[in-house]
Amino acid sequence: MAEITVKNIVKRYGDGFPAVNDVSLDIADGEFMILVGPSGCGKSTLLRMIVGLEDTTSGDIVIGGKRVNDMAPRQRNLAMVFQNYALYPHLSVFENIAFPLRLQGKHSEEEIRKLVTDASDTLELQEHLDRKPSQLSGGQRQRVAMGRAIVRQADAFLFDEPLSNLDAKLRGQMRTEILRLQRRLGVTTVYVTHDQTEAMTLGDRVAVLKRGLLQQVASPRELYEQPVNLFVAGFIGSPPMNFVPAVIKDDKLELPFVDIPLRDEWRSAVGDQSLLIAGIRPGSFEDAHLVDAGKKDRGVIFEVTVDVTEWLGNEQYAFVPYEAPPEISGKLAELASELDSEQMRTQMCVELDPMSRVRDGDKASLWLDPSRLHLFDPKTGDNLTRVDLDDGDDGGRHRTGAEPAQQPG
Ligand code: ATP
Repeated sequence: MAEITVKNIVKRYGDGFPAVNDVSLDIADGEFMILVGPSGCGKSTLLRMIVGLEDTTSGDIVIGGKRVNDMAPRQRNLAMVFQNYALYPHLSVFENIAFPLRLQGKHSEEEIRKLVTDASDTLELQEHLDRKPSQLSGGQRQRVAMGRAIVRQADAFLFDEPLSNLDAKLRGQMRTEILRLQRRLGVTTVYVTHDQTEAMTLGDRVAVLKRGLLQQVASPRELYEQPVNLFVAGFIGSPPMNFVPAVIKDDKLELPFVDIPLRDEWRSAVGDQSLLIAGIRPGSFEDAHLVDAGKKDRGVIFEVTVDVTEWLGNEQYAFVPYEAPPEISGKLAELASELDSEQMRTQMCVELDPMSRVRDGDKASLWLDPSRLHLFDPKTGDNLTRVDLDDGDDGGRHRTGAEPAQQPG
């Protein structure tokens, strides 16, 4: 087992474009760290530098207290599991799992048999040990790849999108298996994905990257509830956070569909800025008919016309169009380099209780909880109303607290 420290790592390819741009990250011994971000953000490059498959342009990589920049991948004692499994097609499952042990050349045949048997028991592969990879399902092949990582007794597991070739159901199963295995073995794990469900369910902490820059490193709960900027707010959460224009006038925050009394903490957080972007998660709303009386005192109620509803059995969404004054939208579009037109929609997504009878085309009365609203600076994208979470009540899953965010340059 080992802790992994990445210090001011930069990776430039030939054209000088920094694929990874001054990233620093401390991964604790036994921690499950996720690297997540859109395609091309540099997450695989960062993982490959840790494992030694890619040189660093500058910065240090320290594993278990030792600087490893100049060590070959094999000397780093890390086990990597790839998306395409990287199994040897001509070898049986047994021999695939035994392969790294034979390569080490220090184990007797008896030891190899025991280590492979133990790993295949853990992964429920006992019945398949004589088969070739082509005779296995995708999930079984992925388990063989994990078996090969386990037998090596590596200091850390590194996963590069290991589940992206599997169908949705199997992905769900394998996710649980990986989590169970990691918890049981307590091995430091770094896991690259672009799938936010994997990021949120697997990670003790999640590092969000954008164009090579680290945006925020925090527990899944903190990322969801207190994102540092528009990018993280829009990337984490499904359906995504609504971004709507917001103007502070006198003692009110004017949104396109309702005015909200200004909260004291907003006033101090935004300073003298009056044009902002409000971020509201779809789950901050309720059908006012279903909100209990005690709650109604706290929130605001407003009328909307629902365009369409999506009922999924256990959840229901309503889409509510709104119009922002053109001069406000125009100014925001000029300022908001962070926002692409897709994020700044002219409709809001509102999660409703599945019991709600609101239907397509209905006028509806919604209740909004203003305490769950975020205010972003349209120019920098910073979340001005972010507060640090005391991340203690997560059932002990997230062992380490959030680190200070590295601001995008
Ligand atoms: P994906 O999810 O699509 O795999 P990623 O976040 O893992 O994306 P990387 O593969 O790390 O992204 O790539 C980061 C950036 O570096 C991309 O812009 C990519 O084009 C560039 N890049 C990666 N490998 C090389 C290379 N060998 N030569 C030049 N540029 C590269």
